[in-house]
Amino acid sequence: MSEYDYDLFTIGAGSGGVRASRVSAAHGARVAVAEEFRVGGTCVIRGCVPKKMLVYGAHFAEDLEDAKHFGWEIGEARFDWVKLRDNVLNDIDRLNGLYKQTLENNGVEIFHERATITGPHEITLSSGEVKTAKVILIATGARPFVPGFEGHEHGITSNEAFHLDAIPQRVLIAGGGYIANEFAGIFNEFGAKVTIMNRSDQILRGYDEAMRDRLLQISLAKGINFRFQAEFEKIEKNADGSLKVFMTNHDPMDVDCVLYATGRVPNVEGLGLGEVGVATNDRGAIAVDEYNRTSVESIYAVGDVTDRIQLTPVAIREGQAFADTVFAGKPTTVDYGCVPSAVFSHPPIASVGMTESEATKAFGSCTVYTSDFRPMKNALAHRNERALYKMICEPETGKVLGLHMIGPDSPEIIQVAAVAVKAGLTKADFDATVAVHPTMSEELVLLK
Ligand code: NDP
Repeated sequence: MSEYDYDLFTIGAGSGGVRASRVSAAHGARVAVAEEFRVGGTCVIRGCVPKKMLVYGAHFAEDLEDAKHFGWEIGEARFDWVKLRDNVLNDIDRLNGLYKQTLENNGVEIFHERATITGPHEITLSSGEVKTAKVILIATGARPFVPGFEGHEHGITSNEAFHLDAIPQRVLIAGGGYIANEFAGIFNEFGAKVTIMNRSDQILRGYDEAMRDRLLQISLAKGINFRFQAEFEKIEKNADGSLKVFMTNHDPMDVDCVLYATGRVPNVEGLGLGEVGVATNDRGAIAVDEYNRTSVESIYAVGDVTDRIQLTPVAIREGQAFADTVFAGKPTTVDYGCVPSAVFSHPPIASVGMTESEATKAFGSCTVYTSDFRPMKNALAHRNERALYKMICEPETGKVLGLHMIGPDSPEIIQVAAVAVKAGLTKADFDATVAVHPTMSEELVLLK
């Protein structure tokens, strides 16, 4: 009989926690999970998944418009936000059920309550129950960061955006990153007047400059406004319930909704980390080694709470690596090189590997191939929206260091192209591949 109640106690049933728990159980461990909210975590419940459904819903605004050029006569189209919202939320309920089932089918016990670490092997649940485990895994994720200033409580975050009663007429989105650009596209397609304000003078820091510029230009053409070098001073509530936002370097503006998309911070509060000696880094995230182990030998952490790369597939890999290392005797680390990513803006951006400026810094110079084209569908639809593909290569060997794309379906295309980039293939390898015609992705093997 083991001296502990469980081999593994996981705190947080999001992408990383669920994968780690399920696989550890499959490796033979006795596993329990505590989740204070809903099984599935940010990605499934209030992030990637419902957001993608809204992106699909929003895209119909353009599709219905474009359809006319393809011979379709469509009467007056009317958008029903409540219907879409409820359909999305119902599907999230379904996924939440599936995630719970997966854990249960693997024999993982779920505690629907908050857990605090009260010793290297001890967890106290909010009910007061105390549990012991050989290993504790922290997978509590992150939450939206809300800047502190007078009246900040009048704004919402992406958490609340999925539950709105109606689409606000005028939306101010703070931040210029993933969430800001994705929700700007969604709200704009649904007919809201959207303004993005960012503290710096750019959007999507870290993405290739040409992609950022192209998205900015297309967003402006679609009617999205931008205010740069703008920081909040205060928000006041007007008599009619709308909000007056005061910011640096710009005039105050009246809006119906302020959405903060200003980054996400690790959920470390109230976990008992200080008491038990789990160290955090300068960003407030849990510090771990390459095997996801914290400064306490029996305590591990994976996913956004460690703030390495805040992406679901990365958290899942960390959870898998943890389970294989600790419960299958197979020490496994995650390879963080060449992680592809996408911004589901309108149109989307997708990227893998180095940007032009990163490659220039690393290699002194780089060779750049681009294709700037109007997708066939956009041409027939009279939609003056051009796609841009960019390949960054090492000058001597022709090895592809990075691929960056903006245009329809680019996230679908980058996933496959990322295999080639990850495998270290060269421009010549791309060129040696015959094009599939007529497609957008054929541009990748025809780059000049
Ligand atoms: P991002 O890190 O993408 O962007 C944050 C934005 O907020 C930046 O433009 C930044 O400005 C600004 N900002 C940061 N701190 C402050 C502050 N203190 N005051 C004012 N502005 C600030 O964060 P998001 O919130 O958009 O998304 C969080 C994370 O979630 C992403 O990093 C991503 O990893 C993940 N995510 C991934 C998605 C996907 O894969 N499609 C979708 C959504 C989220 P600047 O940098 O210009 O100075």
